[in-house]
Amino acid sequence: MLNRRKTRTVMVGSVAIGGNAPIAIQSMTNTHTDDIEATVKQIHELEALKCNIIRVAVPDVKTVKCLGEIKKRINIPLVADIHFGHNLAIEAIKQGVDKIRINPGNMKKKDKLEEIVHLAKDKGIPIRIGVNSGSIRSNDGHEEDLVELMVKTTLRYCEHFESLGFKDIIVSLKASDVQKTMDAYRSIAKQCDYPLHLGITAAGAPDDAIIKSAIGIGGMLSEGIGDTLRVSFTGPPHQEVMAGYKILEALGLSKRTDAEIISCPTCGRCEIDLLNIVNEVKKRLPSQKRSVQIAVMGCIVNGPGEAMEADIGIAGGKGVGFLFKKGEKIRKIPESEMVSTLLEEIETI
Ligand code: SF4
Repeated sequence: MLNRRKTRTVMVGSVAIGGNAPIAIQSMTNTHTDDIEATVKQIHELEALKCNIIRVAVPDVKTVKCLGEIKKRINIPLVADIHFGHNLAIEAIKQGVDKIRINPGNMKKKDKLEEIVHLAKDKGIPIRIGVNSGSIRSNDGHEEDLVELMVKTTLRYCEHFESLGFKDIIVSLKASDVQKTMDAYRSIAKQCDYPLHLGITAAGAPDDAIIKSAIGIGGMLSEGIGDTLRVSFTGPPHQEVMAGYKILEALGLSKRTDAEIISCPTCGRCEIDLLNIVNEVKKRLPSQKRSVQIAVMGCIVNGPGEAMEADIGIAGGKGVGFLFKKGEKIRKIPESEMVSTLLEEIETI
C-alpha cells in the first residue's frame, strides 16, 4: 500500500482530486474543439475507456463559444485549456466549464488575471496552474536551475491566487525531461498541499512516451506524489487513457479492468509457439473484462511456479503444456488445444 502525500481536496465537477480520492485519469481531445460533433464523439469514446476528466484546447473566440454545448452533451467534467487569452478564460468560465487550465506566466495583464481568479471563485470552479519548462524564464536574466525556477514560479502564482482568497488550485510542472519533471514535483510536493497533476510534456510518439511516462508518472506515484495524471502521446488520446490505467494498475492503484497475461520472454528451452499462444489468448479474451491473471510460460524450468501463482496458467513442455488452476496442476494438454483450453477455463473463473 503506497503512502500518499496528504493534500487538500479540489472538486472538478463531480470528480474529487486529492485528499483520499482515487487518482483521476485525464486526457485531451485532438479534434478541433469548434467541430462540436467530432469533439463530443471523441469524448464519448474516451468516457467508454473510463477517462475521468477531459480537457479541450480553446485557441479562439469561435471555439470558446462551443464549450457550453459540448459540456451539455458529455458526462465527464470539461476543462478548458487556455493560453494567453484572458478573455477566452473569462468566457470559458461563463460557458460553464468545470475547470480551466492556464499558465499565469502567459497572462501578462495582472488585472485581467485577477478577474479570471475572481470569476472562478464566484462560479466555484478550480484552476490548474500548469507551468511548462518551456514557458519560464529567469526574471533577472541569470541562469537558474530549471527545476528551482519552475517550482519558485509556480509557488509565486499560487501565492498570488491565495492573496485573492482563492485556493481551489491544482498544480502541474511539466518538462519533457523526465528527471527534471520528477525533481520539480518532489520539490513542490514538500512546499504546498495542493493536489498535483502529473505528466511528462511533449513525451513523443506512443512507444517513447509510454516509457517516459511509466518512469516519470509511475515513479512519482510510487513515492506517494500525484493526484491526477495525463499520459501525453503524439496520437489519438484513447491510448493515453489506457496507458494511464496501465500505470495505475501496475502500482496497485487501480483494480485491473482486463485480464493480466504474464508470459515469459522465451529462451532456448521453449518448445511451444508461445508468442502465438499469447497473442491468440489476448485477441480472443472475452469482451467483458475480467480481473483474471493468466500465466503462459515456455517451459518447466520457471513455468510451473508462475503458472501456479496465477488464476490460470500453462507451463509448456515439448509440444504439450501443463495446465494449472488456482495453484493446482490439473492436466496435460497438447499445444494445439492450449488456446481453447485457456479460454474455456477463463470463462469458469
Ligand atoms: S520460462 Fe522457460 S522458456 Fe520461458 S524464459 Fe524461462 S526458462 Fe526460458
